[in-house]
Amino acid sequence: MAITESKYIWKDGDFVAWWDAKVHILSTAVQFGSSVFEGIRSYATPQGPAIFRLPEHLRRLQDSCKIYRFDLPWTPAQLTDAVRELVRRNELTACYVRPMVLRGYGSPGLDPIGTTSETWIAAWTWGTYLGPDGMAEGVDVCVSSWQRARANTYPTLAKSAGHYNNGQLMKAEATTDGYAEAIALGPDGLVSEGTGMNLFIIRDGVLYTPPVDGSILQGITRDSVLTLAREMNITCREQAIPREMLYTADELFFTGTATEVAPIRSVDRIPIGKGKAGELTLELQKRFLDIAEGRVEDRFGWLTQVI
Ligand code: PMP
Repeated sequence: MAITESKYIWKDGDFVAWWDAKVHILSTAVQFGSSVFEGIRSYATPQGPAIFRLPEHLRRLQDSCKIYRFDLPWTPAQLTDAVRELVRRNELTACYVRPMVLRGYGSPGLDPIGTTSETWIAAWTWGTYLGPDGMAEGVDVCVSSWQRARANTYPTLAKSAGHYNNGQLMKAEATTDGYAEAIALGPDGLVSEGTGMNLFIIRDGVLYTPPVDGSILQGITRDSVLTLAREMNITCREQAIPREMLYTADELFFTGTATEVAPIRSVDRIPIGKGKAGELTLELQKRFLDIAEGRVEDRFGWLTQVI
């Protein structure tokens, strides 16, 4: 799937033309994957474009920089202005926003200290990650033969580009074998998350999701769904999930910024529940999108207006 090009990309305070957004081949980011990033959505609302949970995404970007000892010379207020201005200048409404902080040119070896850091923000039009049919009917997924790394190897609370080599192995295997997505197990054989999304199970009306155990990214959509579920008085449990709980679930779904709330209808060709998108899943998906797309009051203060 090709990227839908927009006009400008923000680079350390300037707006550069899309095709002029370049890094040196010997940047530490290119050589060693030293880059942290965010994935954020802007939604088209009746009041104009609005960024979903921007402060939380910028906080996580700061956290990622701190964990990896990157300099981030821009404050959240400056980055907020940059994101809003970028969406405006590109005349975008519903779009995906990708801030990146990367280690630039200057170090021949592994020691990253002293390399310059570059901050970039791109934005482009991108529909929902698993497609409109997947959102309505559910996707077919597998449990990956690849696993997540142990805690204290790759710090998964940081959203770092290098970590995504693991997810790419999983995604390539899954799509080659005819699945839309893969579910990763952690190093202990317990359920972790999707390649770029968190995972939820519903069984007997209770919502389960793996805990923040050093194998998952602490998703902002995950938090949004937990907030919405608690508002509906659904019991929520962040707990260890053995693989077989996937197969016996009444409903399963993924959450993520790109993915939004996406139902899963089968795992390893075993139908989940009735083998189609679950009712509670679709209700949570609707409640999520109603807020994001401004159809109901923004009762949790999740939207930052662009204009
Ligand atoms: N896990 C991974 C590995 C991810 O890449 C993402 C997407 N950022 C998520 C979970 C979901 O996080 P969020 O809801 O904050 O987008």
